[in-house]
Amino acid sequence: MKNDCVFCAIAAGEIPCFKVYEDELVLAYLDINPFSEGHTLVIPKAHTTGLLDTPEETLAVLLARVKKVAAHLKTALCCDGFHILQNNGAAAGQTVGHIHFHIVPRRNGDPIEFANRPGDMEHLKALATRIGVCR
Ligand code: AMP
Ligand code: ZN
Repeated sequence: MKNDCVFCAIAAGEIPCFKVYEDELVLAYLDINPFSEGHTLVIPKAHTTGLLDTPEETLAVLLARVKKVAAHLKTALCCDGFHILQNNGAAAGQTVGHIHFHIVPRRNGDPIEFANRPGDMEHLKALATRIGVCR
């Protein structure tokens, strides 16, 4: 447990939450500043900061629980779809330094928008070369 971490405090029961799921390793609860109705956070109880410092075994369990909770939300709220979001670092909008997956329910025609813009193919080609293929 990390002393100044709000999600560790929630996992320890020191700060209340609107619980959606719990087992020995994982906790899920409603986001108190929701993007949409039913916006839920899924965390491991053990503190790590983000994707890169979280053990793969933990990530495997976490993602399985994200699936379970998303299925539950979809049935319980009759939503039509959902986003899975996981921010890493302040530059990516991470405001709480304890790894968490957001499940953001969506309904057909709702106003939340993540707009795509057509990419420049030459730029994408050069970029793919620069990035290389991960092995
Ligand atoms: P991120 O920007 O990915 O770090 O997301 C952190 C999320 O945690 C935000 O959506 C906050 O609304 C949410 N949050 C912060 N404190 C609490 C809390 N005590 N209970 C529930 N959600 C929280
Ligand atoms: Zn923590």
